[in-house]
Amino acid sequence: MQDKHMLMIPGPTPVPEQVLLALAKHPIGHRSGDFSKIMAEVTENLKWLHQTSNDLLVLTASGTGAMEAGIINFLNAGDRVLVGSNGKFGDRWGKICKAYNMDVDLVTAEWGQPLDTEVFRAKLEADTEKQIKAVIITHSETSTGVLNDLETIAKYVKAHGEALTIVDAVTSLGAVNLPIDEWGLDVVGSGSQKGYMLPPGLSFLSVSARAWQAYENCTTPRFYFDLGPYRKSAKKDTTPFTPPVNLIFGLQVALQMMKQEGLESIFARHLRISAATRAGVKALGLPLLAPDDAYSTAVTAVAPTEFAAEDIRKIMNKRFDISLAGGQDHLKGKIFRIGHLGFVSDRDILTALSSLEATLSELGYQNGSSATAVDAATKVLATV
Ligand SMILES: *Cc1c(COP(=O)(O)O)cnc(C)c1O
Repeated sequence: MQDKHMLMIPGPTPVPEQVLLALAKHPIGHRSGDFSKIMAEVTENLKWLHQTSNDLLVLTASGTGAMEAGIINFLNAGDRVLVGSNGKFGDRWGKICKAYNMDVDLVTAEWGQPLDTEVFRAKLEADTEKQIKAVIITHSETSTGVLNDLETIAKYVKAHGEALTIVDAVTSLGAVNLPIDEWGLDVVGSGSQKGYMLPPGLSFLSVSARAWQAYENCTTPRFYFDLGPYRKSAKKDTTPFTPPVNLIFGLQVALQMMKQEGLESIFARHLRISAATRAGVKALGLPLLAPDDAYSTAVTAVAPTEFAAEDIRKIMNKRFDISLAGGQDHLKGKIFRIGHLGFVSDRDILTALSSLEATLSELGYQNGSSATAVDAATKVLATV
């Protein structure tokens, strides 16, 4: 049935009707006073969302564009960087840094496990000559549903005193508490199609004063992603190049909705929904990839042993019009991922879980009672 499709992947995510309507407006000139007013409002609200008074820059690019910009403006070829890698996106940080000939020290953990913060502490403490220029972390590792302990790692970086903390917050911003100023994070990137309730196309970077100091000494070649002009333009409530003005209209509305809901409520909603999802999936006997003490509230990765992950995804899509994400790289075919960030409610999760249960029945799963997953999830929803 048309228009009944549910997107439950970790980006793009569902978009509220108010935002869709804003996107459908006629564009206006990006050098107009009207547009500057909108830029002023969205920038202020983005700072609120990021819990920071740092500069907040808006780029026309997907999240990876913000990640690349977050490297090439602050680091030089040959710089030693510690890169946390326990999934597809941590790996991507490593690849970006290598592409620019940085000296990459990958700190790995098995996919599905969080990064070991002690390894960062030890390496930073051992670096008495202050060779490490940045510690680069993926907060919510979307490929596995793991949440890394960024707060602890950022503390060790602070104690080091020299290195910058550079963060991929693409699926944590707007879903997980990420107090940028309190944790002292220097560069934080995110993308519109994840927690922002917007289509793809915009990405965001928060940049600290310390990072701007590093910018002064950074000679890595760049043009479109040179953040200096973005900073200068942002001070005048504009952008250096033509922005996707309609996406900015949408962003204005999405941020207003978020402000109305409030940060605490947004985080609590994601926590409740992810806890209910995990309880429902467990009740069906399906193993979860991320452990109970380190899971992202944005996405739940499931590693079925008795059913093929791809069979589950196919039936969910065909029979119930629900898109789930598959596994990436070596987890392809081994896991499926339920995205639940942004414009997602309790009802969406109950729908997804009951459809998942029906899908398993179709694949031959036998269970005693008829509402295992929904029962388990409903209990959690009532208490969390
Ligand atoms: C989606 C995502 C990205 C960015 O991907 P793009 O396709 O470039 O938008 C980066 N990191 C994480 C953790 C993500 O989930």
